[in-house]
Amino acid sequence: MPMTIAQRIDQIRSQLNGRARLVAVTKTKPIPMLREAYEAGCKSFGENKVQEMIEKHPLLPADIDWHLIGHLQTNKVKYIAPFVSLIHSVDSLKLLQEINKQAARNNRTIDCLLQIHIAEEETKFGLSPDEAEALLNVPELDNLSNIRIIGLMGLATFTDNETQIRREFQGLKQLYDKLSTIQRTNVAFRELSMGMSGDYGIAVEEGSTLVRVGSAIFGERN
Ligand SMILES: *Cc1c(COP(=O)(O)O)cnc(C)c1O
Repeated sequence: MPMTIAQRIDQIRSQLNGRARLVAVTKTKPIPMLREAYEAGCKSFGENKVQEMIEKHPLLPADIDWHLIGHLQTNKVKYIAPFVSLIHSVDSLKLLQEINKQAARNNRTIDCLLQIHIAEEETKFGLSPDEAEALLNVPELDNLSNIRIIGLMGLATFTDNETQIRREFQGLKQLYDKLSTIQRTNVAFRELSMGMSGDYGIAVEEGSTLVRVGSAIFGERN
């Protein structure tokens, strides 16, 4: 008998053992599967596309935390601003300004993570460590009172080489620790989003507080 979604969630939770929280990555998966995860006690869902998130959101219970984990275009921020819980993929001041504007329109403060490029692949989005540090120090941030930057997110290289993955996560944790010392009113680091189905074990060993796991819960995507 293959394991159920609930059993997989339980298994991952016991492996995390309180060290990191689980964001169930539900992209491409149908509503009944999301309901099953919800019934199993999982209340944090990650989607990588705005369109898919706004389609699923009204069909599911209101106490779900919706995490945007994929690249976000400024012209789409308005669609998720009323409800999104955490945006993992911020990579520019321009995007932060738009999130701030739309958050204010909704009388909200939206939590954000800066996405850092740690992988070897060229194609992945994200800021370099220096760019992230510079962004956290721009004076303009003081005007953005409806956002809060609460940490960093990164994706390791897609490889079987555990040493490389660990090294990349260690680098991200070091950057996290360094940038944690920055004192601004809307910067308060408390989340390090790293680890997916293939590498969340390494990620929690290296200090992740949030793992984003999809296929290990819901099965492979087509
Ligand atoms: C799809 C995705 C994940 C989850 O990937 P799995 O390997 O299925 O666990 C995590 N993070 C991001 C940014 C993703 O796009």
